Amino acid sequence: MAPRRLVAGNWKMNGDLAALDQIEGIADAADGARCEVLVCPPALLVHQMVARAAGRIRVGAQDCHGNMSGAHTGDVSAQQLRDAGATHVIVGHSERRADHGETDAVVQAKAAAAHATGLVAIICLGETEEQRDAGRTLEVIASQLAGSVPEGATAANTVIAYEPIWAIGTGRVPDAAQIAEVHQKLRSDLAARLSDGGHVTLLYGGSVKAGNAAEIFAIPNVDGALVGGASLKAADFVPIITAIS
Ligand code: PEP
Repeated sequence: MAPRRLVAGNWKMNGDLAALDQIEGIADAADGARCEVLVCPPALLVHQMVARAAGRIRVGAQDCHGNMSGAHTGDVSAQQLRDAGATHVIVGHSERRADHGETDAVVQAKAAAAHATGLVAIICLGETEEQRDAGRTLEVIASQLAGSVPEGATAANTVIAYEPIWAIGTGRVPDAAQIAEVHQKLRSDLAARLSDGGHVTLLYGGSVKAGNAAEIFAIPNVDGALVGGASLKAADFVPIITAIS
């Protein structure tokens, strides 16, 4: 069984009720797509996006707490996201790791909470430019993977997104050999750790656009993309969805 292909959009802290109009065009493309299509809006929009999507695309969230409930003002639980109709949740995005000081252990707890409620956890990892320049990329990736993936992870409940921090929102993208090297490392580490690690969906994220998507999807062990800026408008996102073969 080949890993499931997925093109996922991360709206970050963008979008409003009017932006839900984009879903129609995205869902039209998803109907004939050779991949699953997922959009992760801000948590407040999940419920209404689920209604607008009417099952034609998946809807996810961008973060959840590592606990199921409790005194965590301003946070959202995995169960609340599931109740709202989410199927996936991104955890460990580099913006969360930087803005909120999230460590691998925190990310691991969030992924475990997602799994416990039946959500697929999209676990993000990636190196800084300084780490890459110092030749530490594979070591950093391996350490984040080991520390962020919880016990009980499987190909069915876990997606890994490789997002070099220096490529996010910058228009800069690693070359094909650099992406291939990291994805090969992820694949072999997952295969060593999980009985079905060879089937875990591996996404590349960082400045994916219509113009580079096909080339990125052709790289070995790239099973799809996590897309930020280019997922906000159907006109930009649809050509990425249709680029997957
Ligand atoms: C992201 O933030 O997950 C991302 C990949 O952003 P962008 O596509 O805008 O680089």
